[in-house]
Amino acid sequence: MRYSALVDAYQQVEATTKRLEMTAILVDLFKNTPPEVLDKVVYLTQGKLYPDFKGIELGVGEKVSLKAIAQAAGYGEEEVKGYWIETGDIGLAAEKALKAKRQRSLFVQPLTVSNVYDSLDTLARASGGRSMDAKIKILSRLLHEATPEEGRYLLRIVNGKLRLGVADMTILDALAIAYASKEDRARLEGAYNRSSDLGKVARAVSQEGLDALDDIVLRLGVPLRAMLAERVPDMAMILEKMDGKCTMEYKYDGLRIQAHVGKDKVQLFSRHMEEITEQFPDVILSLSEASKAKETIVEGECVPITQDGEMRPFQEISHRRGRKYDLKKAQKEVPVAFFAFDCLYRDGKDLLTTPYPKRRKELAKALRETERVRYSTTRTVKKLEEAEAFFQESISSGCEGIMAKSIGPDSIYKAGARGWQWIKYKRDYKAEMNDTIDLVVVGAFAGQGRRAGAYGALLMAAYNADEDRFETVCKLGTGFDDKTLFSLKERFTEQKHIHPRVESEMKADYWMVPEVVMEVAGAEITLSPIHTCAKDSIREGSGLAIRFPRFTGRWRKDKGTEDATTAEELVGMYKAQLKQVGE
Ligand code: ATP
Repeated sequence: MRYSALVDAYQQVEATTKRLEMTAILVDLFKNTPPEVLDKVVYLTQGKLYPDFKGIELGVGEKVSLKAIAQAAGYGEEEVKGYWIETGDIGLAAEKALKAKRQRSLFVQPLTVSNVYDSLDTLARASGGRSMDAKIKILSRLLHEATPEEGRYLLRIVNGKLRLGVADMTILDALAIAYASKEDRARLEGAYNRSSDLGKVARAVSQEGLDALDDIVLRLGVPLRAMLAERVPDMAMILEKMDGKCTMEYKYDGLRIQAHVGKDKVQLFSRHMEEITEQFPDVILSLSEASKAKETIVEGECVPITQDGEMRPFQEISHRRGRKYDLKKAQKEVPVAFFAFDCLYRDGKDLLTTPYPKRRKELAKALRETERVRYSTTRTVKKLEEAEAFFQESISSGCEGIMAKSIGPDSIYKAGARGWQWIKYKRDYKAEMNDTIDLVVVGAFAGQGRRAGAYGALLMAAYNADEDRFETVCKLGTGFDDKTLFSLKERFTEQKHIHPRVESEMKADYWMVPEVVMEVAGAEITLSPIHTCAKDSIREGSGLAIRFPRFTGRWRKDKGTEDATTAEELVGMYKAQLKQVGE
């Protein structure tokens, strides 16, 4: 299969913002893809070579990109750099350079998908002293054979900037339509949730048919997508939603970890399915000591504690994430405890369809409690007073609220889904808005006065899952210390125009690729004529806005942009607020 077929599809995808049209383009692409390379096509379309948990990253730096383009096009690096500055996009710079190429070879073969994929794979794995030369060589060879349009996407993908705006769920829709039917989508999604690997799902369904999806089972070392919680504005609603009875757990304020514990090996994954094993050798040790099973997958929250076992603020654990050096020192300074709350697999038994009360029993069979491994505190409640008392207890022991869990026969573990089997409830005592929200940065405004040269405020958006786009809710200018404020520019990818997945009526001075999620607290949710979040859903012509938004200091690196607070959730919070005011 020629790589140009992908490039044609990408250009069509970029020309639309409608999810249905994107899906139709992908259906065509997937139908015309030979099954033996479908997985490669899926990964490349996601802008990667492997599922995230494999940790194989493509990112090449500026130097490699410039040298490779210059070599392939027969230009000087400075000239290519000029194109880059002019277009603000390394892909467009490559395209321009290749269009004006000085040395055109007559005997080039068209690029194939396999050729591109395999070369990029070799490039991603190149390491050691001479790896930079090797990377330049591979990339310039590919560019030598590429058309200018192919060059555009090759450079974007190796720089980690493909960003077609296609969500994983849209790829799943297209795979279902191309290789099964819309009705079978849930089976594909189930296999994806168990494996976190879209290429694998594509391979199975295209090569062996729907039944092969059932063979995609839980395996140690392969993270599954996390189950998520709904939220409600008041405690009474929890009991209503749970048919009058549920088990509540402390909601620990730490880092969610999915631990895969084998006899000789323990692997840890973040909420976002990145492998974080190396950052927590102490947790590995604690879990191996606590394990009673040959093999188990358990979930828990890692919380910083004092030497006496008291819980400490979440911020302290964030120092340990992403840390590669001084691990020993960090372990000593910030010891952590693992509060286990679920068991998804034990000794050959997939527990995803086992109801929650039984899973807790399995948890007790999988792990014993030790100084650093504990079960989350639980209580089964039927009355509002019992729930309130448990909530207070949780807050006073240093937690941020409670997680209510359904105990009915339907209380299965819904990997990858946000549902009413789990309801979270936490309270920000200072604000009317009784929860923080997670918003996506989509633009920024130039700073003035003391902030000249930096951003004055960021334009923040919620995720509209129905439309698969980001809708603005506020300008965020408070809650930053100076250091953060003046280094903000390094965190985002600016682009010339508004991103196709962003819906905004405000004209920002800078537009960003939606990729960074920040936690925001606010005073209340109001109606606004200028913001586009959930426009028209409460009142014709109005969207929702956050009043007095403030950055809490927490970068939600563990969240993808589609995990941000949704427009629908904000509508729910707005209505709940009205109810409270009316009471
Ligand atoms: P938040 O922003 O409220 O921390 P989130 O949006 O990251 O949450 P949710 O699923 O909405 O994710 O909230 C549940 C989170 O609470 C889990 O991801 C987990 O990290 C944490 N948590 C703490 N204690 C528990 C518990 N006992 N059971 C389940 N999750 C818990």
